[in-house]
Amino acid sequence: MRIILLGPPGAGKGTQAKTLAERLNVAHISTGDILRQNVKDGTALGRQAKDFMERGALVPDELMSKMLSDRFSQPDIEKGFILDGYPRSLAQAKTLEEIFKQRNTDVDMVVYLDSSDKVIIQRLTGRLVCSGCGANFHITNMPPKEKGICDKCGKPLFQRTDDKEETIKKRLDVYKQEVSGLIKHYQDKKKLYSLDADGEAGVVLEEIIALTKKMA
Ligand code: AMP
Repeated sequence: MRIILLGPPGAGKGTQAKTLAERLNVAHISTGDILRQNVKDGTALGRQAKDFMERGALVPDELMSKMLSDRFSQPDIEKGFILDGYPRSLAQAKTLEEIFKQRNTDVDMVVYLDSSDKVIIQRLTGRLVCSGCGANFHITNMPPKEKGICDKCGKPLFQRTDDKEETIKKRLDVYKQEVSGLIKHYQDKKKLYSLDADGEAGVVLEEIIALTKKMA
């Protein structure tokens, strides 16, 4: 199964993508995670991307295209994938289609996780991320058993530098400028499935799984 998850920051793409990839035994590709790892490792890509990410702006397309093309050349893609965080614009959707063409593959469905601004801001300002395994928690919605420590791997949790209210608003603005074009693009291709993602993560997950079963 090859799935793109679309939706605003905070719609739960990362949480859903991780669990879905495990359940469906496919690769999880999160462009945000790959970029954060590059920033942490101090690679050339990380150094170029860091400032854009901290401002809540998009990392330039040339950098993203190269990064994505490299990721899609890895063998684990063959079993299928959940793509989370890409495309974020029509131009990126076209780049992705080029990559698919070169690899003789395509996407089976695009799931749009629709979420309201109020829920997004509440989710993101309280989000905690594990420094070890990348699992997500929330100060009130999904607190870890022990404060500041990951339930899954025991490593410390941190708040992302771009999860401040000001930067969240900027990320939402950037997202809204681009999303309608993307939605129309995938609607025209008859690939788009929209879900209300304001509800509980487990419920949304089961809805996505039900969609994949319909497709199979
Ligand atoms: P995310 O974890 O998906 O919220 O992404 C965090 C940040 O990484 C974004 O605010 C952007 O700065 C950058 N980023 C992630 N994916 C993309 C993309 N497809 N295009 C451009 N920038 C991206």
